[in-house]
Amino acid sequence: MDVLAHPNPALAQDAAEVDPAADETLRDLARRMARVMYQFSGIGLAATQIGVLKRVIVYDLSDDGSGLVALCNPAIVERSGECEIDDEGCLSVPGISVAIERACEVTCEALSLDGTKVTIEADGLLARLLQHEIDHLNGMLIIDRVEGQDRKDALRRYREAVDAGALPGETSI
Ligand SMILES: [Zn+2]
Repeated sequence: MDVLAHPNPALAQDAAEVDPAADETLRDLARRMARVMYQFSGIGLAATQIGVLKRVIVYDLSDDGSGLVALCNPAIVERSGECEIDDEGCLSVPGISVAIERACEVTCEALSLDGTKVTIEADGLLARLLQHEIDHLNGMLIIDRVEGQDRKDALRRYREAVDAGALPGETSI
């Protein structure tokens, strides 16, 4: 399985809410997503990135692959006023990173795969990751988070990276 890359149109779509209690395919979906994430050495992945328009994300911020988390319908319910700018990369925009402003701290509500409600208070890299993956579920990429000349520069660098062979593999829908 491959990760879809910009400009694949699936990446620009809104993903649908899921019901873990009724949808038995979600565990398998999360397993497939984890496999792809580890295969490409990512730290997070949204279902959108493998062409499944369901609101499911996985991430693992551990060094040894022991910290896998899968979330359904993740939503930011609170964010700090304080923001920070940092470079962000994306498996779907391979070969570049883009400086993006994100809230430093967020509170995320979601459902686990067994339907339990979970609340995550996040800061640092996890806060950035959650905002990034939820952007995917809303059809938004890192290049959509910058405007004007910054966006033009990012798109030019991306084209150059693609020309240089930066795609993670053939995209499949
Ligand atoms: Zn991404």
